[in-house]
Amino acid sequence: MSAVFNFCAGPAMLPAPVMKKAQEELLDWNGQGVSVMEVSHRGAPFIEMAKSSEACLRELMNIPDNYHVLFMHGGGRGQFSAVVNNFLGNNGRALYLVSGQWSKAAAEEAQKLAGEAQIDVLNIVKKDNGLNAVELPVFSGSAEQYRYLHYCPNETVDGIEIFDDIDCPWPVIADMSSNIMSREIDVSRFGLIYAGAQKNIGPSGLAIVIVRKDLLSLPQLTQSSIMDYRLTAENDSMYNTPPTFAWYLAAQVFDWLKSIGGVKAIAAINAEKARRLYACIDDSGFYKNGVVKANRSQMNVTFQLADESLDKAFLQEAEAAGLVALKGHRIVGGMRASIYNAMPLEGIDALVSFMNSFAAKHG
Ligand code: PMP
Repeated sequence: MSAVFNFCAGPAMLPAPVMKKAQEELLDWNGQGVSVMEVSHRGAPFIEMAKSSEACLRELMNIPDNYHVLFMHGGGRGQFSAVVNNFLGNNGRALYLVSGQWSKAAAEEAQKLAGEAQIDVLNIVKKDNGLNAVELPVFSGSAEQYRYLHYCPNETVDGIEIFDDIDCPWPVIADMSSNIMSREIDVSRFGLIYAGAQKNIGPSGLAIVIVRKDLLSLPQLTQSSIMDYRLTAENDSMYNTPPTFAWYLAAQVFDWLKSIGGVKAIAAINAEKARRLYACIDDSGFYKNGVVKANRSQMNVTFQLADESLDKAFLQEAEAAGLVALKGHRIVGGMRASIYNAMPLEGIDALVSFMNSFAAKHG
C-alpha cells in the first residue's frame, strides 16, 4: 500500500516510529516475554515506565514542581465533569468562555452538574468582516469571586485557536485536548491543564491532567473516586487500574517528541505546516477559511470549497490520492485537515499539491 496521510481530528495519526516500536515489542515488552498489556500496573517495570513518562512530560512542557501530573480515565469529556466536581463546591461560581463547540460542551456539562452553584457563560467569538474572531474580555478590577475560569485554547471543530494568555484573578483551567505540546506555553499561568490523549499524546480514553497542587484544597462536590484529583494524586494515578496500554504509548510519544528536539522544535514545524496550508487556501481563490488570521488554528485547518456540490468529489479524489479523513465536522460542514504533531511536512505538501490540482480542474 502506498503512503496514506491521515488527517483525522481524533483519534488521530500517531508518529510512525512510535507505532513501529509498539509493534516490535507488542508481544515481548521489556524482555519479559509478555505484552505491556498483560503486566500488573503495580509491578516494578510498569511503575518505572510510569515514572519516566511523567518525568519526560515534565521536561517537555517545563512543568513546575508545584504541579501534579495525573494520568486519568475518561478522555476530554471526563474532565468536563471532573473539573466541576473537584473545584466548584456547593455554592461556588465559575466562568466559562465559549469560543466554539468544545468549550460550549464543557459549559453545558458544568451547568448540568452545578446544582445550587452558578456557572456563568460568556461567548467570546465575534464576527469581523464575516470572519470568526476571538475577543478576549478584560478582567482587571473584576470583583467577581469565581472559583475558576474555563476555556478551550484550540477548538478542534471550529478551527479557532487562542494564542494569547488569559489575564484574570482566578485560576485558569484550559482544555488543551487538541493543542497540548504543539507549541511552548508557560504552565505556571494555568491552574489546571487537561487533554484527552487522542490527538497529540496517544490512544483515546486516557487524559492527562496538570494541576497546581494548592488547588486541590478547593471545596469539592461529591463525585466518583476515580475522577477525584486528590485521590488520583495520592495514588500516583493508580487508585484503580490505569489504561496501561494507552499510558505506555503516551510514554513512547513523549520520548519521540524529546528525540526530535521537544516542543520548541515541533512548534516551528507546526507553524510552517499551518503556514503552507493556509497559504494554499488564501492564494487559491477556490478555497475559503472563515477565521481571522490571528485565531486560525495551527492544528485543525478548516476550509470550504467555492461550490459545496464539489465536496463529495473532493473527498473521493483526495482519498484516492491517499489523503484521508478530510471531511469537516458535521456541525460546521466543509473540510478539515487536522495536522497535529505527528503529521509530517510531506503530508502537508501532498495535500497542498492535491488541493491545487483539484482547484485547477474544477475552479
Ligand atoms: N475537548 C476537545 C478540545 C476535543 O477536541 C475533544 C474531542 N475531540 C474533547 C474535548 C472530548 O474528548 P473525548 O472524546 O476524549 O471525551
